[in-house]
Amino acid sequence: MENKAIRVRFAPSPTGPLHIGGVRTALYNYLFARHNKGKMILRIEDTDQNRFVPGAEEYIIESFRWCGIEFDEGIGIGGDFAPYRQSERKHIYRQYADQLIEKGHAYYAFDTAEELEKMRKELEASAAIYTSYNQESRLKMTNSLTLSGEEVKRRLSVGDPFVIRIKMPENETVKVYDEIRKEVVVDSSTLDDKVLYKSDGMPTYHLANVVDDYLMKISHVIRGEEWLPSLPLHVSLYRFLGWEKDMPKFAHLPLLLKPDGKGKLSKRDGDKLGFPVFPLEWKDPKTDEISRGYREDGYFPEAFINMLALLGWNPGTEQEIFNMEELAEQFSIDRVGRSGARFDPDKARWFNHQYLIGKDNTELAKDFALILDEKNVEYRDMTFLEKIIELVKERVNFVSEIWGQASFFFAAPESYDEKTVRKRWKENTGALLTEILEVIKATEPFSRDKLHDTIASYLEEKQIGMGQVMIGIRLCLVGSGTGPDLFTIMEMIGGKETVERIETGVRRLS
Ligand code: GLU
Repeated sequence: MENKAIRVRFAPSPTGPLHIGGVRTALYNYLFARHNKGKMILRIEDTDQNRFVPGAEEYIIESFRWCGIEFDEGIGIGGDFAPYRQSERKHIYRQYADQLIEKGHAYYAFDTAEELEKMRKELEASAAIYTSYNQESRLKMTNSLTLSGEEVKRRLSVGDPFVIRIKMPENETVKVYDEIRKEVVVDSSTLDDKVLYKSDGMPTYHLANVVDDYLMKISHVIRGEEWLPSLPLHVSLYRFLGWEKDMPKFAHLPLLLKPDGKGKLSKRDGDKLGFPVFPLEWKDPKTDEISRGYREDGYFPEAFINMLALLGWNPGTEQEIFNMEELAEQFSIDRVGRSGARFDPDKARWFNHQYLIGKDNTELAKDFALILDEKNVEYRDMTFLEKIIELVKERVNFVSEIWGQASFFFAAPESYDEKTVRKRWKENTGALLTEILEVIKATEPFSRDKLHDTIASYLEEKQIGMGQVMIGIRLCLVGSGTGPDLFTIMEMIGGKETVERIETGVRRLS
């Protein structure tokens, strides 16, 4: 039984736009919190000032607003554990680094960049298994383990640049437990002495992350698999700081894979295969390069969320369409898979289609009207647009595709699909249509059913096949051989327009 209040956090670093893998991580945290009536916190991890990108934090917030992931506490909201931006919590971390030094779990290191580089090269040349700053190499470097106490004091008092490194124990077995991977056992000698704190007054990710999770009373850390290798370090920090009994539970989510399943999904895959890997469009502030976003590509936020939810989690049933409520109700970490989830762009479009056909025509008509306004296309009224939507929605995945399926409702075709003309416009088609035109002109009222019945009975009487005539009329009215019900199209564009288009078509095609 859980006896700790459920508190989870999403803790992005503002280093650029949020990858959809990051959105999925946030989503799983959110669903977990909602399912367990817990709290969801947004914390910004900006301790690495070199990687700070202007606009990234705003982008992250806007992305969540768009897709409906809500936070209970954190940046932009506040809460009992404020501030939630690590750069504003700078003053908090040093004491913990000092505590670790006092207890012998950390030490000062004064090595310059050149010395570190030299160490790495020498270790590489000696074919050492581990080439990092660790329990062996640290004894040959410039740090408080090798220098006298006096010398360390002197260096600190004259302001020599330093870092504080964790002192990883030798030959110990570090056991960590991951809710998805289960027990992971690591030999401490494979772990290096990571930097925890720098003399510029900033902690590194590892220290700040552990300290904040502890201080913010985080119960579960749910994050991407790329952090699994850091888990032994984090668990060691909890131990060394005496916080073991308050340590959160950890769950590392499987990677999002490329469509072919080979490797991590990257921005380049998106560019190459034509799908976004970011929730919103992003303009790189340095290069002005634009990366497309799901929002701008016309995805509905609900479809985007539904798709992401199923990339790594499965409900254990055949159900595929879930709204946020249903997801929150059904979500559990037990059903998150261990292996990477392959991203499928076709499936993403399929999800959007499912949501599109489920939407109200009135709502879709409003979105379509905006597109028409942009194109300067005039239309009769909203009811007309709603009828169009009803006729074509099954054929499109996005609102932006409606125009391609419906432009003939607004203007006569400028050209006629060549292949259809070649195959289906016969020598006598023009004459046949001219004959039918008289029937069409005489039809009163000019309604779908009346048109259908009149034309059908005329053709039957004359023993003329429906197919050839209809494809001819379709070419004249639509410009192609496909589209919604032809009689409905006639009714919608009206008698005058129908007659004009057929006359023009006959003239141009015969
Ligand atoms: N700041 C880290 C990131 O951007 C957070 C990792 C974690 O959740 O611990 O991925």
